[in-house]
Amino acid sequence: MMITGCQYFGAEQTRGPYKVCGCTNLWPGKSYCDEHVWRVYQKNTAKGTSRKNKAIEREMADIKRLESIDHE
Ligand SMILES: [Zn+2]
Repeated sequence: MMITGCQYFGAEQTRGPYKVCGCTNLWPGKSYCDEHVWRVYQKNTAKGTSRKNKAIEREMADIKRLESIDHE
């Protein structure tokens, strides 16, 4: 499936049809823009520890750094 825009639609939308963000500035390898990818990850790790979030932040930073080096 080709994702061309951010799929974030926010927790306040509880029933369809959902209006998604649609931003095309996607985080590498994700279906969310670099603004909303954090919200999604934070929501998914809400039950996790802050240490877990730190690990995810580090992983995301690595992905972003690699992306800036190699644009392919
Ligand atoms: Zn977005």
